[in-house]
Amino acid sequence: MQNNASLVVVLGTGGTIAGTAVHATDHVGYSAAQLGAAQLVAAVPALAGLPIEVQQIAQVDSKDMDFSIWRALAEAVDQHLARPQVCGVVITHGTDTLEETAYFLQRVLAPSKPVVLVAAMRPATALQADGPQNLLDAVGVARSVGARGVVAVLAGRVHSALDLRKVHTYRLDAFDSGDAGTLAQIEQGRLRQHRAWPGGEAFGLVRLPRDAAQWPQVEIATSHAGSGGAIVAALCASGVQGIVVAGTGNGSVHRALEGALLQAQAAGVAVLRSSRCLGGSVIDATPPALPSAGALTPVQARIELMLQLLAHRVA
Ligand code: ASP
Repeated sequence: MQNNASLVVVLGTGGTIAGTAVHATDHVGYSAAQLGAAQLVAAVPALAGLPIEVQQIAQVDSKDMDFSIWRALAEAVDQHLARPQVCGVVITHGTDTLEETAYFLQRVLAPSKPVVLVAAMRPATALQADGPQNLLDAVGVARSVGARGVVAVLAGRVHSALDLRKVHTYRLDAFDSGDAGTLAQIEQGRLRQHRAWPGGEAFGLVRLPRDAAQWPQVEIATSHAGSGGAIVAALCASGVQGIVVAGTGNGSVHRALEGALLQAQAAGVAVLRSSRCLGGSVIDATPPALPSAGALTPVQARIELMLQLLAHRVA
């Protein structure tokens, strides 16, 4: 699956893949984001001699991912992909917000070269660490002829950024592509591809504020038994510009929460209605009072709503 042995740029952001524990048997009691991306690359003998450049963008546990890292990451990816000698970018990242960073980068850049997010469920010090194989596979995908768009590589599977979701708290194969299914499998370094690379139109980097404080504030509220409107009132009082509701089933919302959301919408807060179900899409029989997020997961819908609000701001 090689692409003229051109340059792969590995961008480090931290995560468990760069994590270390005191004991090799520790799978949970470890510190994420301890090793640099250069150390991760150096730990994979099969990568030695390949044209690889490394740049550390951040060093965080991805539960703490933020807008300023996203902005810096998107800019670095964009700059590297514009270099003719670069065939693809690999991003080492934590698993907790992997699906959010993946969706964000695909929507903002819609790159015509591969951008491969890679993570691990076990720290680098584990007896059977999954990071090195995942990193080797990710570089292989970044060098693949015809690969394009943002994908994630873990446990021998390639997932589109548009479908990726974390579905397990500790299993090595912790990610899934929902109803869409895995994009490709990596079999002894070769890709067995099931469907197309992610596409779509790029939102564009220029519309992302440099100052993180200027990004629209969009929060997620969950509908559940006994839901009320207090959370919506608190969010509105804090100056929120958008609310994604993670509804039950087919995007249904508890009447008390729905009432509060309709009021917020009438007051100018943008609302999107998604489902807290792990699969499926919100389907409406009649035009809904609260617009539907379709097949977007709540965290994807949140990114989409932020981009919509940014688009209107500069329009
Ligand atoms: N908390 C870690 C992170 O997201 C978990 C992981 O990487 O698996 O950075």
